[in-house]
Amino acid sequence: MVSLERIPVSGPSITEHEVGYVAEAARTAWYSNANAFNERFERAFAAYVGTPHAIALPSCTSAIHLSLLALGVGPGDEVIVPDCTWIASAAPIHYVGATTVFADIDAGTWCLSPSSFEAAITPRTKAVIPVNLYGGMADYDAINRIAARHGVAVVEDAAESIGSRLHGRASGSFGTTGVFSFHGSKTLTTGEGGMLVTADRALHDRIQVLRDHGRQPGDRFFYNTEVGWKYKMSSMQAALGLAQLERIDELVERKRRVFDWYRERLSGLDELQLNHEPQGVLNTYWMVTAILPARVGGKRAAMDALSAAGIDSRPFFHPLSSLPAYAGTPQAGAAAAANTASYRIAPHGVNLPSGLGLSEADVDRVCGVLRGLLER
Ligand SMILES: *Cc1c(COP(=O)(O)O)cnc(C)c1O
Repeated sequence: MVSLERIPVSGPSITEHEVGYVAEAARTAWYSNANAFNERFERAFAAYVGTPHAIALPSCTSAIHLSLLALGVGPGDEVIVPDCTWIASAAPIHYVGATTVFADIDAGTWCLSPSSFEAAITPRTKAVIPVNLYGGMADYDAINRIAARHGVAVVEDAAESIGSRLHGRASGSFGTTGVFSFHGSKTLTTGEGGMLVTADRALHDRIQVLRDHGRQPGDRFFYNTEVGWKYKMSSMQAALGLAQLERIDELVERKRRVFDWYRERLSGLDELQLNHEPQGVLNTYWMVTAILPARVGGKRAAMDALSAAGIDSRPFFHPLSSLPAYAGTPQAGAAAAANTASYRIAPHGVNLPSGLGLSEADVDRVCGVLRGLLER
């Protein structure tokens, strides 16, 4: 009997290059060298995204939190997020005491719908957090025009989209700030970690104070000018991130190849909707995602069938407004009625194995199960 290994839903590509940098950091990044890898990683990252400033952080969640703090968002303010995203996009709105407003996703890109965003704006709206979901790109031509017209700041959640492009411009460079995640499941990983990029010098300087317990940059007198937060990345993580960034073209190419393997094998299954790559977009397909026809019985049924065949998968993000975390809020109630695309798509979407270690034979196995589901 052949026992097949379980196929994980995600996973990184780590080589001796990364191991060497991390070991070097462990040996050398202390005393006056303590920040050397952080500075190299930040400089290289800013250059890659094409923004003047980058700040390495412990997570993307902290990058969103710092963005909202530095933008002065607080109690009484409203911040708009797409309904379908990981809760980390929205949780920092709660941290700063502001109100979370859920807008719908676009049925094609699965990212924030510009018209739903515009309809959700009120005089209290301070910021919007568009999410480049699963490696796709939100429509920044429309979103940034609407945001500018209403004086709304844009925090671009690029956690899932390093390497993606819109009109040739890098994901993360479209917002007032752009934020990235290097969690173990992401395309570029530091285990846990994040990055904030911005072209706004004043915002950058403010964030440096907020993220270091209210100390001015370069402060050696341990003289806190206000109470702040402690959001820093370790040297070992920065070394890992720098090594990964030096391989980013290879990582992105690998992600795109995995998507092509799926697309070839699933072509002809017209009932299935896969990630969309509209004109002008380069999608890096963080998670290959399939929206299944209703007759399959929903995402849980599909995940169970995959699991029985030794394949791990994840559900398309549930609308945040449908989760117990936001139950009972008037914003969740309004969203459940208004966000028809989110509520139509999310129950039937599954993220398929998309790890960087995935083989073509693994994709054969996954597609075999999907075909079986559809041909039943
Ligand atoms: C992973 C992710 C985050 C959070 O990243 P952390 O580094 O875990 O804080 C935020 N937004 C989206 C869309 C994500 O997928």
